[in-house]
Amino acid sequence: MPDHDPDCIFCGIIAGRIPSDTLYEDDEIIAFRDISPAAPLHVLVLPKAHIATVNDLGAEEAGLIGRMVLVARDLAAGAGVARDGYRLVVNVNRDGGQIVFHLHLHVLGGRSMGAIG
Ligand code: AMP
Repeated sequence: MPDHDPDCIFCGIIAGRIPSDTLYEDDEIIAFRDISPAAPLHVLVLPKAHIATVNDLGAEEAGLIGRMVLVARDLAAGAGVARDGYRLVVNVNRDGGQIVFHLHLHVLGGRSMGAIG
């Protein structure tokens, strides 16, 4: 899998070609606000490397995924929703509702999410 896909909208954000409201960035992870928020806090946390879906992860990426969760946790804490709670979601492929095929973690908070299903 190539590190960057020129046709990928999130790779365009990572490269700075497409604007975003970026809240966090390091060498391997970026987080920005979702353009169509489903909750008062709706941030996407993603690897800078172009990994299309969870199905494409290798064992060597386990640490990266763990660091993405820690970034999500810290963003939730910074937004003041850690105590009341928030939801972390990763959609996978069609039935999972994935629209953008660059792996990303949704961080949703600031309202009650209710039960899934
Ligand atoms: P998913 O359904 O998990 O693939 O979610 C893709 C998310 O990306 C949706 O919530 C979109 O609103 C969001 N999105 C699409 N384009 C952009 C963009 N240019 N900047 C920020 N978020 C975006």
